[in-house]
Amino acid sequence: MAVLRFDHVSKQYPGGRAALSEVSFEVAAGEMLFLTGHSGAGKSTLLKLIHLAERPSRGTVLFNDRNLLKVRGRRVALHRREVGVVFQDHCLLTDRSVFDNVALPLVLRGLRRGEIGRRVRGVLERLGLGDRERALPAQLSAGEQQRVGIARALVGEPRLLVADEPTGNLDPTLAAEIMSLFASLPERGTSVLVASHDLGLVRRMRKRVLVLDQGRLVDDIAPEELADG
Ligand code: ADP
Ligand code: ADP
Repeated sequence: MAVLRFDHVSKQYPGGRAALSEVSFEVAAGEMLFLTGHSGAGKSTLLKLIHLAERPSRGTVLFNDRNLLKVRGRRVALHRREVGVVFQDHCLLTDRSVFDNVALPLVLRGLRRGEIGRRVRGVLERLGLGDRERALPAQLSAGEQQRVGIARALVGEPRLLVADEPTGNLDPTLAAEIMSLFASLPERGTSVLVASHDLGLVRRMRKRVLVLDQGRLVDDIAPEELADG
């Protein structure tokens, strides 16, 4: 089953040229894939249509067979529970501990403290941050900070994780580590869509790659085609 489907999606910002033109593709449940292309190609815009930070000008986005055009008002927040978002600069609250940062989405949801503690510790453990829960973001390395951002995106057990240039501020070794972490998520049932302009890194991961060029989807590369990259 497809977790995500774009059907002839176009996006035009007011006064701008087309950021996306007639983009169509599907993501299967439990699939990991990359979205690549030069700066300005439309990668961020495409991800924003998925977590409803933007709306398409034309075309349809289906998430779990739900037409996102019809997701309005209070349903936007409900939809976002099913989509974890990871940003390049991870947007952590600087005056809150690792635990509090990761707990935030569950607190907003009104879960009980015991449940929150159990889930937060589970995800921190899984991401190798088990002994850092009391630390403040500034006391962490860049790689650890990014993992906290990922933990926060995962703690609600989303169906899909979208990441926008998640390794943009990391050195190559850490970047590869974070990408491997993403690659491990599908086996737990979370599909993963990662936007990155780092073609070398993307090729080495040997996953499906969507290529955007000036808002058009110009290539959809299967992992086998990357084998001799
Ligand atoms: P990428 O993530 O691949 O760098 P973006 O999706 O950020 O690409 O941008 C695609 C195009 O849309 C670019 O031409 C960019 O200038 C334009 N754009 C992005 N966001 C906005 C906005 N909020 N208002 C107007 N134009 C925008
Ligand atoms: P509203 O539904 O209140 O209009 P917006 O769509 O304007 O909210 O989003 C507000 C900001 O929150 C945007 O800058 C967007 O990038 C960010 N945002 C949107 N969705 C998410 C999400 N799922 N997780 C984190 N931040 C998000």
